[in-house]
Amino acid sequence: MRSFTYERASSPAQAAGAVGRVQGARFLAGGTNLLDLMKLEIETPTHLVDVQDLGLDKIEKTPDGGLRIGAFVSNTALAADSRIRRDYGVLTRAIVAGASGQLRNKASVAGNLLQRTRCPYFYDTNQPCNKRKPGSGCAAIGGYSRQLGVIGTSDACIATYPGDMAVAMRVLDATVETVDAQGRARAVPIADFHALWGDTPQVETVLRPGELITAVTLPRPIGGTHVYRKVRDRASYAFALVSVAAVVQRDGTGRVAFGGVAPKPWRVEAADALLPQGAKAVTARAFAGARPTADNGFKLPLAERTLAAVLAQAKGALA
Ligand code: SF4
Repeated sequence: MRSFTYERASSPAQAAGAVGRVQGARFLAGGTNLLDLMKLEIETPTHLVDVQDLGLDKIEKTPDGGLRIGAFVSNTALAADSRIRRDYGVLTRAIVAGASGQLRNKASVAGNLLQRTRCPYFYDTNQPCNKRKPGSGCAAIGGYSRQLGVIGTSDACIATYPGDMAVAMRVLDATVETVDAQGRARAVPIADFHALWGDTPQVETVLRPGELITAVTLPRPIGGTHVYRKVRDRASYAFALVSVAAVVQRDGTGRVAFGGVAPKPWRVEAADALLPQGAKAVTARAFAGARPTADNGFKLPLAERTLAAVLAQAKGALA
């Protein structure tokens, strides 16, 4: 690990200012992803700004009947919150499907949103990787790509966004709140928060230099049956090959998002409208234009079967 300097921030705006001011500075929250990447010298920050003590660890009601989740609420606390469990069950289920109990105790909401891809070539510094070293090439294209993306990818990068929590937040139409180095706040719909790779796979979100996530807000509850199903190579502590987050209403309408398939939680609202017609119709629309590799074409039928299981589970719960 390379040497770096460290400071504890005293306010969100001060933290954003510090990261914006120092070349190569990064925020440090739970550190569950960043510290691993620093040990491998994939991330080499010059300065860390610790943002754990800013009071952003509360879950509060919003005036419109939703919830505002502080950026540094732990994954464990968020999943266990009685309001989340009662009204946003898909979020609790997605969070507990991820990582391990120890990691969830330490990982923050903001850090979870920002976790980096698990493409094996991203972690192997002997391999070309446009995301790690822009312009160096992509070892995954033509390489081992079983876990990688099938849609929303590009000729520069075919990695996936690895998280579970954000897939549920996408189905719930969450909004990400931020503050920038000048102290200005903004709100970004989660649909727009993660970037598609295009020619710049090193750019993973719409955050600007120094911009700090302060909260995620959930709109008022929408009812329905909440299901999260994750298909992976082992029963726990593994990233999704395919995951499905869904909220299904009694009349068969609802919303669905997919994880493990794209650079961002993958939801196509036009596909939501096809939910009453079943999984085949939804996935045909949601994955129109997919570009699977020779290794990962199985993800397309797997997504359909996983959604079919989710819809059957929801129907059973509603019966
Ligand atoms: Fe790097 Fe993306 Fe290619 Fe993986 S898929 S090697 S992360 S450029």
